[in-house]
Amino acid sequence: RAKHGGKHNICYFAPEMNHAVQVRADLTARLSVALANQEFQLVYQPLFESGTRRLVSLEALLRWTSPELGEVPPAEFIPIAEESGQIVELGAWVLGEACRQLAQWQRDGLAPVLVAVNVSPLQFARPGFVDDLRRLLSRHGVDGQWLELELTERIMLHDLTSMAQKMREVRALGVRLSIDDFGAGNTPLSYFFQLPVTTVKIDRSLIRGLGQTHGTDRVVQAIVALAHSLHLNVVAEGIETRVQLSSVTDLGCERVQGFLLARPEGLATVQARLAQTSAAPAGPAVLPLEL
Ligand code: C2E
Ligand code: MG
Ligand code: MG
Ligand code: MG
Repeated sequence: RAKHGGKHNICYFAPEMNHAVQVRADLTARLSVALANQEFQLVYQPLFESGTRRLVSLEALLRWTSPELGEVPPAEFIPIAEESGQIVELGAWVLGEACRQLAQWQRDGLAPVLVAVNVSPLQFARPGFVDDLRRLLSRHGVDGQWLELELTERIMLHDLTSMAQKMREVRALGVRLSIDDFGAGNTPLSYFFQLPVTTVKIDRSLIRGLGQTHGTDRVVQAIVALAHSLHLNVVAEGIETRVQLSSVTDLGCERVQGFLLARPEGLATVQARLAQTSAAPAGPAVLPLEL
């Protein structure tokens, strides 16, 4: 690749690598104005109790519609925002927006529902995270028991002792903690079970392997057994087929999430769902969740 510009601007990358670097720089620049321009919104994907199919919670998922690029999937922009540090500001917006929405639903008398928010390791590790969270809950008048934070195994990249301490502080606010995408990496089970989490979400990649890849059923069974022995809830993520749904139900996963049951939904759809839920004779949308 011919180089122009200053003498330090020597490029050792292959053209496609260079392209990736440019794309990243471009997205970083666009992300930096996207918040101010209100280009983000949240959608909500329902989670259900596997036996009864009752609504248990809603996972808030970030959506970015760039005026120039259109819809950019989180899988593309979240890693870039994490690399640049922009995830801290973005993640704070997500938490604030989810709490604001939760408070609004409660004022509107919609079915009480737990809202789960994905939190980046960088955001969680930041000093002041717990203080900010406490202030946020009190500003919106939301009881912490209605909020769950989803963390991934990448929190391991930070100091374990201080992460565990922080997690206990979050739990003291009543806020639940889940380990997201469990089984996607190669973190030993035992590692997470030293941490004060309430829920384990089994990654889609494992669910996809059920009945397909030899041994997957037993791996899932072992995760469920260990989680239950520690009184943790288990969610099976990415349920796309009836066969997967009945497998995970048989294997003891008490909660399910996936396109088969419901896609991430915009505000109107999810509010209609909540309104319908509170009217149902079955009672509250939410199971009495033990802390
Ligand atoms: P995640 O937290 O594991 O969220 C679940 C993802 O799986 C969502 O993708 C959801 O749309 C997708 N999904 C749910 N059911 C199915 C299914 O049956 N089949 C398939 N193929 N996919 C399913 P989405 O919304 O594109 O988000 C991707 C990832 O981006 C999330 O994975 C999460 O790691 C990250 N993310 C999304 N929103 C946020 C956010 O506000 N903050 C942070 N830090 N990360 C976020
Ligand atoms: Mg998640
Ligand atoms: Mg997940
Ligand atoms: Mg996942």
